[in-house]
Amino acid sequence: MPLNLHDTLTRETREAFPMDGHSFRFYCCGPTVYGPAHIGNFRTFVMQDVFRRVLETSGHETLHVRNITDVDDKTIKQSQSEGVPLKEFTDRWSAFFNRDCELLNLMTPHAVPSAVDHIPEQISLISRLIEAGNAYQADDGSVYFKVDSFAKYGRLSRLADREITTDVISRESSDEYDRDSAADFALWKARRPEDGDNFWNSPWGEGRPGWHIECSAMSMKYLGESFDLHSGGVDLIFPHHENEIAQSESVTGKTFARHWFHIAHLMVEGKKMSKSLGNLHTLEDLSKRGFKPQEVRYVLLSGSYRQPLNFTFDSLKAAQKALSKLQSFAEKIQFQAGSEDSLETNFGPFQSVQDALLSDLNTPEALGRLFSLIRELRDISDEEELEAVRVGFQATCDAFGFIIDSKPQAESAPEQVQILAQQRWDAKQAKDWSTADQLRQEILAFGWTVKDGKDGFVLAKA
Ligand code: AMP
Ligand code: ZN
Repeated sequence: MPLNLHDTLTRETREAFPMDGHSFRFYCCGPTVYGPAHIGNFRTFVMQDVFRRVLETSGHETLHVRNITDVDDKTIKQSQSEGVPLKEFTDRWSAFFNRDCELLNLMTPHAVPSAVDHIPEQISLISRLIEAGNAYQADDGSVYFKVDSFAKYGRLSRLADREITTDVISRESSDEYDRDSAADFALWKARRPEDGDNFWNSPWGEGRPGWHIECSAMSMKYLGESFDLHSGGVDLIFPHHENEIAQSESVTGKTFARHWFHIAHLMVEGKKMSKSLGNLHTLEDLSKRGFKPQEVRYVLLSGSYRQPLNFTFDSLKAAQKALSKLQSFAEKIQFQAGSEDSLETNFGPFQSVQDALLSDLNTPEALGRLFSLIRELRDISDEEELEAVRVGFQATCDAFGFIIDSKPQAESAPEQVQILAQQRWDAKQAKDWSTADQLRQEILAFGWTVKDGKDGFVLAKA
């Protein structure tokens, strides 16, 4: 079954497949590193992670790029006000972000380019846009993209439905602007005193790039002029992604991204969780209140990505309970998590969970199916069936990015028990289930149980 996903551009739910028939190439707009990312940001990053996991657990290869926005209005302003050089400032918050990603068990993208490291690529794109007549240098020295030079401007964000036209063109130099205006936007911003030392040389004088051109330059460098999917939170649809399409397609004449995947916001009491509203939670502050990153991950997956999700502490408590049910199921089936080097693809009895994920990443439905299944499967005792349950459970944990393990005992088993366990493992590898069952009983008679993982077994006191 293929992965069907809603596409913001066409408003259709359609198959996400690699256009080169081999590796699914996708770009996620990364964090603006001027403070800790909040769990609203992580709703988007966790959903993108599950998207990748679902592709990989259904047998696709992926090429995942997520940038770091380290030069824009916000990073410059904040580093200036703290009196810290931009690089030192953004390195600190990038490291903080990476640590949070690790705590949330996000798979590391294959490339993590930073905007500051790609200034020449951005300058080259801007030059091509000027040559093609899509951009111009204004009296203020900055270079702007001419939105009425791109006929398809506004398709992604449906400007026409909002009765916004590009007839009366204003200019906008800030990176983020009103949802209700279409404006020529800055590609290159002429040096201003408040930018301090943060300027680069260009054919148009000293200055710095605008935010939108950064993502066009980095995505096309790592994924090619046309790639499979582009993603971010819904707030990026306009103007950021609209502008990325205009810049990129004006230069290449090709479809920039074939599929647009946007994640609805995490809300707090009806308002978007955001730094500017001051209603945010970070992993760090939640961990001080005793909540673990896996519980946060669970909450973020508990609602459909198409709908806003309201964050509450009750939902975190419910996540604790749900994860402990998975934990006790793991104990019951003597499950030992394998390594995550490659994800398990064989869902076996859990296939219906993966089917829900393949159906527009329906995480709430998939979780519901998972809990029904663990009720049904927990009393299986036949070793062959149990083995299929363990493998399928591994695939399921891999798809959701849950880290569930039955806790191994510290005490080491006597040599005789270890020999029996090895013999049982060998029997199991040879699919000699009855010998494996018999050896399990012998091991039990010594007061030990054996727990199987993908790559081996561990012994624990019975
Ligand atoms: P930023 O660091 O502001 O550039 O945002 C990083 C990512 O988080 C972007 O894809 C945003 O669209 C997304 N984002 C920001 N706030 C929220 C929120 N409350 N819920 C979900 N995603 C968000
Ligand atoms: Zn971007």
